[in-house]
Amino acid sequence: ATPTAVMVGTGVGASNGILIKGADGLERAAKVNKVLFDKTGTLTQGKPKVLELRVFSSTYSQQQLAEIVAVAEKDSEHPLAHSFVKYADETTKSNDEPNKDKVISSQVIPGEGLRCVMESGISVHIGNEKLVGGAENIPHEARKFAGEHQSEAHTVVFVSINNAVEGVFAVSDPIKPEAAGVVAMLARMHIECAIVTGDNIETAKAIASECGIQNVYARMSPKDKAEKIAEMKNTNPDAVIAMVGDGINDAPALASADVGIAIGCGTEVAIEAADFVLMKSDLEDVAVSLDIARETFRKIK
Ligand code: ADP
Ligand code: MG
Repeated sequence: ATPTAVMVGTGVGASNGILIKGADGLERAAKVNKVLFDKTGTLTQGKPKVLELRVFSSTYSQQQLAEIVAVAEKDSEHPLAHSFVKYADETTKSNDEPNKDKVISSQVIPGEGLRCVMESGISVHIGNEKLVGGAENIPHEARKFAGEHQSEAHTVVFVSINNAVEGVFAVSDPIKPEAAGVVAMLARMHIECAIVTGDNIETAKAIASECGIQNVYARMSPKDKAEKIAEMKNTNPDAVIAMVGDGINDAPALASADVGIAIGCGTEVAIEAADFVLMKSDLEDVAVSLDIARETFRKIK
């Protein structure tokens, strides 16, 4: 393409609310034949809502557990954290004694959850199965509750205190209304879609089927997501891969994909790592971006 064509393409992008950072990314985008989507906040709305906190404890009431989690997650940036804080606010009754415990130290494990130690001496782990010590550390009843919700596309988050699982959150985060349409649109462009997510396989599969996506890679750490792309390119040298994501946990994958596409309302780190930014945060603009790229580079030989 001539520099003029690239300017035109970039202009068409801009008028559609798509920021195209450079000619190289645009050129690679013209050849994309595979799109990997992050799940949370990318395919889903990213505004999770707690459906239930089921308590499997003789030590803590539901109220107490909800408040411990709210204190622990108060400063966390993860969208799930906000849903836990909101849940505690909504379920706290005005005559309840507020939880005055404080976080002494806290550590975020990306793609897994949060660990912290409280002033009262308890250690609190909030996150996926792996974070609370694997399936063998989860009581049967809690596993059953989790499984039921996961097959409904709900995200499940375990709460353990001093290494004993005391409760489980079931959280719903519905897909964006345009998600399935975009996957169909990409299929017509002969582009194959997949999900790469830090969430559990059952939840990811249920979300994938709602979107019409067949390929699912779950329980991926930020590093795993990037390595998955390298592995795909190794097994199929013809694969030209775009990654679509919104979070800190997507940044390495956005940078290592042939084309990184960030959701505009996503985190700064993701936006910086990407070649394209969808300012309207509308997933249809994934197809629009790739279409603009194809148009721009169509006539060159
Ligand atoms: P995705 O790849 O779909 O965007 P993440 O990598 O952000 O998902 O999160 C993966 C999983 O890690 C979540 O489903 C949740 O179980 C757990 N998790 C991550 N951050 C937190 C947190 N702050 N509190 C509780 N759980 C968390
Ligand atoms: Mg995300």
